[in-house]
Amino acid sequence: MRWGFVGASDIAGRVIESLRKLDGAEPAGICSGSEQRAREFARQHGLALAGTDLESWLEQGAFDAVYVSSTNQLHAPQALAALRHGCHVLCEKPLAMSADDAREMVACAERSGRVLATNHHLRGSPANQRLRELVASGELGEVHSAQVSHAVYLPRHLQGWRLDRPEAGGGVLLDILVHDADILRFVLQREPRAVISFATSAGMARAGLEDNAMSVLEFDGGVLAQCHESFVAAHAQSRVHLFGTRANVYSVGALSQAGTTRLVLRDERGEHLIDVPAADLYENTLRAFTDACAGRGAPLSSGADGLASLRVALGALESSRLGRRVEL
Ligand code: NDP
Repeated sequence: MRWGFVGASDIAGRVIESLRKLDGAEPAGICSGSEQRAREFARQHGLALAGTDLESWLEQGAFDAVYVSSTNQLHAPQALAALRHGCHVLCEKPLAMSADDAREMVACAERSGRVLATNHHLRGSPANQRLRELVASGELGEVHSAQVSHAVYLPRHLQGWRLDRPEAGGGVLLDILVHDADILRFVLQREPRAVISFATSAGMARAGLEDNAMSVLEFDGGVLAQCHESFVAAHAQSRVHLFGTRANVYSVGALSQAGTTRLVLRDERGEHLIDVPAADLYENTLRAFTDACAGRGAPLSSGADGLASLRVALGALESSRLGRRVEL
């Protein structure tokens, strides 16, 4: 499978490492807005084709699949161009800047018979998959509440457009709440119906962007989830906590890229550590995507899933602006 990369980004380098673990995957080209960055990225990652003009690069590259990881405002036009060239597309989150654009991407993939997936890599985590099983099996009883803490301290090398470019889709809600909304949908197997959010800047984000936010989501059946996303939380660990009428379970670390987690279940017999293997979440995501492109199963997170998580983040932005609950 011949892969093209749109966006000479930090995450693209990480994804290429994981892609190289897959038999038959051939990272072949990079398209960047800058000739120098394209050349440098191609050299660094051993890619044969470096380009800056998307249409001619797609033509020349004859890629089977394209991974889009540019800044957020470019995802929709670039993914649409790749789909129209007959490529399968794995697109970074947020899928687009508007729900209409995301819908158009989903429709375009359907029309062209190509796979459109969203890189919600956290679905590739054995710990998150175990949480989903625990909910589905009824072992926790009726799950009525969840808490997600996905607070990080944005590393120096990523303190760029996320903090000062609203037009590029900066801010912590579009960056991280999309992941949390997706993992909650995945684990709870319910749809979010409303959101209420508070978003602030603790000083790292500028230009009206938020770097710290708290939201409450209401899911089908009245299940409530509280989410905290931050760029300014030093030395924090991610946590997911699910509360049921029979037991509760929490994970520590399951929302980090590292793929290592401590999972603890508490019930009437006390506290139990659940074994979960470490995993490369990107490798798992890429494997499922590759299989889906070959007609075997579905990607871990589809275009429609990316649309759903985007709608939550857009709803949260609107809620924080209006100071009230927003129906989704
Ligand atoms: P980067 O800031 O590393 O790169 C984003 C874009 O910025 C690149 O496409 C590139 O544009 C441009 N750029 C890169 N380096 C420079 C530079 N030195 N000077 C000027 N411009 C530069 O972004 P991330 O890798 O952090 O994120 C990219 C996308 O991936 C985002 O949509 C983000 O939400 C998503 N992401 C997803 C993750 C996941 O696990 N699912 C994890 C991290 C990010 P050009 O292509 O024109 O060269």
